Amino acid sequence: MPGTEFERERQRMLREIEADMRNCASATGRGTLSPRVIAAIESVPRHRFVPPGMQSSAYENRPLAIGLGQTISQPFIVALMTDMLDPGPEDVVLEIGTGSGYQAAVLARIVRQVYSVETLPELARTARDHLKRLGHRNVEVRVGDGHQGWAEHAPYDAIIVTAAAPEIPPALLDQLKPGGRMVIPVGLRHATQDLALITKGADGEIHRRSILPVAFVPLVESGSG
Ligand code: SAH
Repeated sequence: MPGTEFERERQRMLREIEADMRNCASATGRGTLSPRVIAAIESVPRHRFVPPGMQSSAYENRPLAIGLGQTISQPFIVALMTDMLDPGPEDVVLEIGTGSGYQAAVLARIVRQVYSVETLPELARTARDHLKRLGHRNVEVRVGDGHQGWAEHAPYDAIIVTAAAPEIPPALLDQLKPGGRMVIPVGLRHATQDLALITKGADGEIHRRSILPVAFVPLVESGSG
């Protein structure tokens, strides 16, 4: 598929995302995406983050398998979660669950620095490779257990967790800046989870708001895979 074709497909995907945003507005409290999120989705070549045989499906508004039982999230969910983080150009963001690297690339177009933790070394390697080829110098990927966050670079302006946890890992709450925002699917494996927006007040107090029912792969406990 030639590059211009991919660009057209990407525009079509964006229109579908925008329709989903409008349809879910009563639940999410926002019917439109911020201009910087739109610009990021418009500019990241999702087809470069999916396995070679799946490029022609790359701009369908649905999750796709990326191997090892993992998925690249649905574009609407990527856009919604990015928007909920309310990211700014000076922000330092932590992502848990690098997967394909697509979400990290979207964030990297908006913020100053992205740190991303992935438990599967093979996925971390592929994601690093994709990000490097696209010239992203402001994303670092580390292999590790996301429950622990990435203490070295904390605190973060925003944290995005792209796998579901039954409870919010305490280390992640600790590593969030006062005034910071976290988006995380909370719930059990094989069940509908609650996409939650967590905000930390200037006084360190934690607030939680439910945004939407979602279905994510689980955040695995270290040692279990
Ligand atoms: N953000 C990704 C999609 C993530 S799918 C993208 O844009 O493509 C969820 C990812 O979380 C998978 O790659 C999975 O291996 C990873 N994961 C699961 N448990 C984890 C853990 N404890 N720590 C870090 N990553 C984890």
